[in-house]
Amino acid sequence: MMKTQDAALPSQASVVIVGGGIQGLACAFNLARNGRKGVLVLDAGYWQGGASGRNGTLIRGGFGSQAWIELFEFSTRCWQDLSRTLGHNTMFSRRGYTMVAETERTAGVLNDTIRLHHHYGVKAELLSGAGVRRVLPAIRHDKVLNAIHLADGGVAPHHAGMKAFHAACLEAGVDVRYRTRVTGIETQNGRAAAVLLGDHRIAAETIVVAAGGFNLTVAEMAGVTVPGHSMRIEAMALEPIRPLIGPGIALIDSLCYMHQTARGEVVGGTEVPERPRMSLTADFPVLARTAGVYARLFPQLAELRILRHWAGLIHATPDWAPLIGPHPELRDLWFSAGWSYGWTGGPGTGVLLARSITEGKVERRLQPFALDRFLRGAPLTDKTIVM
Ligand SMILES: Cc1cc2nc3c(=O)[nH]c(=O)nc-3n(C[C@H](O)[C@H](O)[C@H](O)COP(=O)(O)OP(=O)(O)OC[C@H]3O[C@@H](n4cnc5c(N)ncnc54)[C@H](O)[C@@H]3O)c2cc1C
Repeated sequence: MMKTQDAALPSQASVVIVGGGIQGLACAFNLARNGRKGVLVLDAGYWQGGASGRNGTLIRGGFGSQAWIELFEFSTRCWQDLSRTLGHNTMFSRRGYTMVAETERTAGVLNDTIRLHHHYGVKAELLSGAGVRRVLPAIRHDKVLNAIHLADGGVAPHHAGMKAFHAACLEAGVDVRYRTRVTGIETQNGRAAAVLLGDHRIAAETIVVAAGGFNLTVAEMAGVTVPGHSMRIEAMALEPIRPLIGPGIALIDSLCYMHQTARGEVVGGTEVPERPRMSLTADFPVLARTAGVYARLFPQLAELRILRHWAGLIHATPDWAPLIGPHPELRDLWFSAGWSYGWTGGPGTGVLLARSITEGKVERRLQPFALDRFLRGAPLTDKTIVM
């Protein structure tokens, strides 16, 4: 039965998911799809208020290491079928994704990475010269040493993806509540037993934390820690122009990502070192740096006006890879956390995490992303990451 946002909160649930961004909704939908009853998603904010409504919308499966490739390639394939799976249009557009090298060092990384891509069945092409001109006619070719083009990558606007997941969750019988903040997690006999919302207690068999930039705060409520810190990242949109850029792009050396939307705006951002801060204020350094990279590599963009500029909060981990699985110190508390490429990773992780929770055993492709990997000396560093 479809629950309404305003119905009284239950006093027990089978699975409570803290956070209704793409990670929480994808996990909830797949649990319900696997037949799990009593799945409840609680979100402190408004629908799309987290990073899942503020991102660059880029999707790619090709990374630079086995663990990343296996998870993100699977998720990219899930994106391709997602409209059918959810019964709602996610507007996924398979326009490709191109990783660009401007330095010898990065060109070498891409030379190594292409072998890995072919080994794991990623549809990837190493480009130079004429190949770069074919895929990215508008880029300054004298600045590009080589590039990898991923045919299966693309974009999906967050409003469409989030609407599809939200609608599919409701139709599958998931109870989803926005503006409903979890304020505590009660533990009993070494397990997470209930979530607290002020005076209201909801007992749960399993609790999943998918609270984006607030994962550390929610973990603390249960008396445990998770690696990493919260930080903001920013993006901006330029005024619409005629089609100029086909695929999504990662300019690895410039730490810049970008694409052109269906209505012609160029959307993207760059990474600027700053002290971690929990702020949604977008300010000048990222805007200036992004504009500088655009003007250097795409001179046609230099005269355009900046329409919008915004920020979102993420949970960054020491290796930028997500933290997925049960907490090693507290039973029945699971995480889908630490996401920097969480838009890409949402659909696939939802499938694998729901399966892991249902079977009580972490799926093979999720195992490298375990929360205790740093303690075991097994980080998942990847040289092709751009934030
Ligand atoms: C500017 C920007 C650009 C990005 N570009 C890309 C990109 O191109 N491709 C890509 O793959 N990824 C990108 N990302 C990252 C991606 O958006 C995130 O990794 C992803 O959205 C994380 O999803 P999530 O569900 O974990 O978190 P969120 O979407 O942030 O959801 C977490 C939810 O938890 C809720 N919450 C927090 N505390 C509580 C509480 N106490 N009780 C209940 N609910 C709570 C919040 O209200 C929030 O809605 C980008 C992010 C930003 C900010």
